Amino acid sequence: MSYPRLDINCTKIYLNTRTLINKLYKKGISIAPVTKVCLGNPIITNVLVHAGVNMIADSRIENMDRIQSSGIKIPTILIRTPMISQVKSVIKYCDISLNTEVSVIKKLSLEASKLNVNHGVIVMVELGDLREGVMPHQLFDFFNKIIKLPNILIKGIGMNLACRYGVIPNKFKISQLSNLADSLEKKFNIKLDIISGGNSASLYWALNNKNKTRINHLRLGESIFLGCDSLYQKPIKGLFTDAITLTAEVIESKIKPSLPWGDRGYNAFGEKDDIFDRGLVLQAIIALGRQDVIVTGIKAPEGINIMSSTSDHLVVETNKYPLFVGQKVKFELDYSGLLSSMSSSFVHKNFQNIKGFELPKKQ
Ligand SMILES: *Cc1c(COP(=O)(O)O)cnc(C)c1O
Repeated sequence: MSYPRLDINCTKIYLNTRTLINKLYKKGISIAPVTKVCLGNPIITNVLVHAGVNMIADSRIENMDRIQSSGIKIPTILIRTPMISQVKSVIKYCDISLNTEVSVIKKLSLEASKLNVNHGVIVMVELGDLREGVMPHQLFDFFNKIIKLPNILIKGIGMNLACRYGVIPNKFKISQLSNLADSLEKKFNIKLDIISGGNSASLYWALNNKNKTRINHLRLGESIFLGCDSLYQKPIKGLFTDAITLTAEVIESKIKPSLPWGDRGYNAFGEKDDIFDRGLVLQAIIALGRQDVIVTGIKAPEGINIMSSTSDHLVVETNKYPLFVGQKVKFELDYSGLLSSMSSSFVHKNFQNIKGFELPKKQ
C-alpha cells in the first residue's frame, strides 16, 4: 500500500446515497449527486448510478468527459454557469446547465441549433449568498430574453446558498424561490419541471419540512461523501461520516524542545507565529503536507495534535505516547480536506468494497 492514501468505501457511499434518496423521495424531492469533489471519478460515479440516481451533476466539463468516456450513460447537469468559450463542449457533454447570463444562453442556443439538439437550462436566482444568480427583480426581463431562443429548453429555476457567506436556506428563502416559480409560470404560460433548492446545506430544511413547496430537486455533494454539511458542521442522522478517510505514515519521531532556536524571520509560507516554551515535547513528522491536502481540513485522532505543516511535512505532537516510525495515522476529512486530497496526484486512491460496482464494459 502506498501513502498518503484515501480510503474510499464504496458501500458507505452507496448507503449514504440510498438513504438520502429514500428520505427525500418522501418529501417529493429528487437528487442530483455532485461529483466535482471526486473529479468525476468513474468508480464513484458508478456507485451513485447503482444507488439509483437519475442524473449526475458536476461543475467541470473535464469531469463530465471522464464520466462519459468510462462508458457510464446518464443525463448530466453542469452546475457552474458555462464559460462562454466552452459552450461547444457544454452542448456535447451536458444535457442541462445552470445559467445566469443571457449572452451565454444565446451562445448555447446557437451551438445547439448547429448540432440540431436541445439543451436544458436552469436559471439560477440570487437569493442573498451573493455568488451566482439573476437578481429576483430582473428575472422576468431575463426570461423575456431567453424564452424564445431556439433549441433551448427552459427546465426550471434554482438557487445556491451557504457556499460563500453561509446564508441559510431556510423556509423564507425556499418560499421565495417557490413563489418565483409560480409567478414565472403564470406570466410566461410555461411549466417549470425542476425547482432546484440548493446543495447539502438545504438538507436541514428539506428533511424537517412538512409543508408543500415547489422545491423538487437538490444538488448534493458533501452530504453523500462526508455525511454532513458545512452549515452546522454536524453529522446528518443515518449517514456514514467516514466513507472517505485519509491515512498517512510517520517518518520521524523524537523528543524535541518546543522552542525553536536562532534568529527568526517568516517561514516558507510567509507566516510567523508566536511560540511559547512548553519544555520538551513528543514530536513526530507525518509524510503529509500542503501539496497533499489543505491541512485545516483534516482532523487527527484523539491524542494527536497537529502543530504545523509545510509542503511535505505534517508536524504533530502527542501527549502520552510517542508515535513510532512507520505508524499509520488515519484522519477524518471536512469538505476542503476531501476536495484537496482528491485533487492531489500525490494522494493514492484506494477503493474498498468495490465488488458489484465494477464499471460497464466498453464497447
Ligand atoms: C458544489 C455545488 C453543489 C454541491 O454542494 P455540496 O455542499 O457539496 O452539497 C451544489 N450546487 C452548486 C452550484 C455547487 O457549486
